[in-house]
Amino acid sequence: MILIEIGLTKAKQLIDFLDEADVASIEHIKNIVKEVQDEFFKGWDLPMPVIEIKNTSEKYHGRMRTILTPIPNPDQPTAPRQYSKRHILQIQKAILPNEDALKRIITHEMIHLWDHVISEPQKLIADLHFGRNAGGHGREFQDYARMINDKVGSDYVTITSDQSYGVESKEYFILISPREQGGFNYSWAARLTEPMKADIKRREVENQAKLFRVKDPRFMGKARIGTGRYSYIPSYGKDAEENNKALAAIYNSGKEIKI
Ligand SMILES: [Zn+2]
Repeated sequence: MILIEIGLTKAKQLIDFLDEADVASIEHIKNIVKEVQDEFFKGWDLPMPVIEIKNTSEKYHGRMRTILTPIPNPDQPTAPRQYSKRHILQIQKAILPNEDALKRIITHEMIHLWDHVISEPQKLIADLHFGRNAGGHGREFQDYARMINDKVGSDYVTITSDQSYGVESKEYFILISPREQGGFNYSWAARLTEPMKADIKRREVENQAKLFRVKDPRFMGKARIGTGRYSYIPSYGKDAEENNKALAAIYNSGKEIKI
């Protein structure tokens, strides 16, 4: 999936709070981007996109955003407008534990990046809004995808391989305990190691912690089980109430797992 925007002259200031798990995930994604570059884009000097981890319920697992910013050219006002390009790779948190899917999704998005780098801005804008190639999966995309699939197997990259119906979200473990101030502490893990199990047993006794298996991606990617760190949903902020309700529903579901 792609998103092309005409940049605002005044950059919007975005403040992102990244926790350690997000920083580690961003490094991991950068390494896969480099791997995909070496494997499939030799000879193209593609820029490293900015990496963003998203945690939304939108239907995409990956997306390449390219922001076009007009370059002012007051000396030649009639010359064709030039743009600078900035690329942002967005990956949904829910897909992070699924290594195979993650690399396929990144490969799909890197074809978009390649297309965005080589294409005239006017073509990119047209791709998005009009015509047969709306969405950016036109001839260029399909030819490059075919080249990759010829190497590694058909259907490795498809037009929809970055959409959520193409890949299933994976289940993971979540450990939830009530906070004195209200709300819940939570931590997560894809697999349980022996030290994690010991920590879970201790916290079941000391903190009324309960362990669950869930698919809801909202609570993944923050503090890991057994690290002595917990995430919690602050009482303010967007979606706080809804997320706290969702945690309460899991905690009170009676579906906890015994290990
Ligand atoms: Zn796409």
